[in-house]
Amino acid sequence: MSVDSGDNGNGDGSVLAVAEHRRGELRDVSFEVVTAARSLADETGGDLHVAVIGGDVEAFADRLSLSAVDRIHTVDHGEEFDHGVYTQALSAMDETLRPRYVVAPNTVNGLDYAPAVAERRDLSLVTDAIGLDGDDGLAVTREMYGSKVETTVAVEGDRALVTVRDTEFTPAEKRGEVTVEPFHVEIDEAALGATVRGFQEVGGGGVDVTEADVLVSVGRGIEEEDDLNLVFDLAEALDATVSASRPVVDNGWLPKNRQIGQSGKVVTPNVYIAVGISGAVQHVAGMKGADTVVAINTDPDAPIYDIADYGVVDDLFDVVPELIEQFS
Ligand SMILES: Cc1cc2nc3c(=O)[nH]c(=O)nc-3n(C[C@H](O)[C@H](O)[C@H](O)COP(=O)(O)OP(=O)(O)OC[C@H]3O[C@@H](n4cnc5c(N)ncnc54)[C@H](O)[C@@H]3O)c2cc1C
Repeated sequence: MSVDSGDNGNGDGSVLAVAEHRRGELRDVSFEVVTAARSLADETGGDLHVAVIGGDVEAFADRLSLSAVDRIHTVDHGEEFDHGVYTQALSAMDETLRPRYVVAPNTVNGLDYAPAVAERRDLSLVTDAIGLDGDDGLAVTREMYGSKVETTVAVEGDRALVTVRDTEFTPAEKRGEVTVEPFHVEIDEAALGATVRGFQEVGGGGVDVTEADVLVSVGRGIEEEDDLNLVFDLAEALDATVSASRPVVDNGWLPKNRQIGQSGKVVTPNVYIAVGISGAVQHVAGMKGADTVVAINTDPDAPIYDIADYGVVDDLFDVVPELIEQFS
């Protein structure tokens, strides 16, 4: 790997955020990472740099330049995420720009390259941050014990790499002029352990519950696989996407990419309708960011009602057909 060290950046309080894309689309999480990194850069008094690696870098940079960033660095190499390319490119950027902190998304991709970059660059690594404070060194807020407890970790050392949980940071508005420039790094192809050659969806097709505005989420209260039709009918009437709690997925009734929760997807829809879901902490960890939560559950003491904005304490087999009729 060779690095163009033409611009040494400002190794003072600058922060480097890492954008994420998939299948030709810049992912929303990129803007949440920018928000987290922006407030950190404001606290440390430096510029906010953003790394855009692979894919349609110009289009992605155009979109990102409408957000609260100062400088965008593009590496035009490959179409999809590639561990080796990201690791090499980010290590080179860290060496050249010397940001105080690197902020990456706590996604499958982010968690893939972050440890490798941290190890190469001798950076402290903290994952799954839900809050960052850079006023006096770096303090990172994380959740523990299935989201029951929040802890604040004081990070040792001057520099660190942090992955931030998507959905925890609201996108920030554009501020001033943004420069976009290619970052020259010669990727050592021989050192790439694996190369992405294509994209294959896991079972469940192209459904991405994280992008849905309205989710109808089904839990163990549904009892039978055949009764899922009821939930799909409601989703159709509402132009919504169907998601599920873990037991429904464990039963093999719906694919894993529809599972919401600690060991599934984290979602922030406008509306989340929990049908026959009790609201266990592991489930709530994945949907508590929803704007409006509607619960349908026969048990008035079910924990889902602690976070629901609207609730129907009744049998889903009575309520759901009524809703389908109302909205069809
Ligand atoms: C390490 C770990 C990770 C986990 N990760 C996840 C995760 O990512 N996502 C997840 O969802 N869970 C996860 N779990 C499991 C979690 O603890 C709960 O067991 C699970 O969320 C319960 O799913 P549920 O609400 O569908 O089922 P239940 O808890 O059985 O609740 C079913 C609900 O349906 C109601 N009900 C029953 N019949 C009707 C009816 N006819 N009409 C209306 N309501 C009815 C009941 O009152 C009940 O509240 C995890 C657990 C562990 C230990």
